[in-house]
Amino acid sequence: MTKIASHRGGTLEFGDSTLAGFTATAQMDLEEVEFDVHPTRDGEIVVHHDATLDRTTDKAGAIAELMAEDVLSAVINYSRNSHPILLNELCAIFKESPVQFRCEFKPGEDGKPYEDFVSRVVKLLAKEGALETTGFSSFLLDYLETIALNTDRPRLWLVSPAVLGQVGAKGVLETAKSREIPEIGVHIDKATPELMAMAQDAGIEFGCWAAHSIPQIRKAIEMGVKVFTSDRPSLAIALRHQMQEGTAL
Ligand code: FE
Repeated sequence: MTKIASHRGGTLEFGDSTLAGFTATAQMDLEEVEFDVHPTRDGEIVVHHDATLDRTTDKAGAIAELMAEDVLSAVINYSRNSHPILLNELCAIFKESPVQFRCEFKPGEDGKPYEDFVSRVVKLLAKEGALETTGFSSFLLDYLETIALNTDRPRLWLVSPAVLGQVGAKGVLETAKSREIPEIGVHIDKATPELMAMAQDAGIEFGCWAAHSIPQIRKAIEMGVKVFTSDRPSLAIALRHQMQEGTAL
């Protein structure tokens, strides 16, 4: 069965990485919750998509240069007054939930990986008892290497359309193979049965990201990809259910 990952706790349903979105996701009939992490200046780990607060909240500034207190007081856009949360708070929300973590490492504002960050995230997840059900992802190969040095939990390479276009399917799969990356994820609009078959022939698992519309979600399920992320988890669950039952859409 194709797995569904609630992207940032269902951004298009609840706002970007909100308490409401994550709390709802913990109760949903899906398999994974996707989220991104950033360090604050005073050593906390925040769950948020962007490296800065500018685009998604009523505040501004790079999370890595702000104190946790300031980050947590920001109001997330389109969220009914939600604030960013810490990684340990996310762990508490999912403590009793069968939904598994898909933790993405994003670069800082300068586009580079945060230094000494992966080990801190892995340690916190282990302390909270969440590491054993966490998979990791990143667009950055450097991060994927650091993840492998810190944990043997699964990791997947998010392949951007630009990288796929420049390097080509063969190049992407050769890179994944040579770096012992067991799984890749491509944008749903770039996914084809041919590409999926090539990946599987190379022994690499294949998933998609950014399946938000009905046609995109339907495509991911029809192709039978391993997992896809969606900003509309409730819609994805309803469509998967209907397609499994063979009822009209
Ligand atoms: Fe992400």
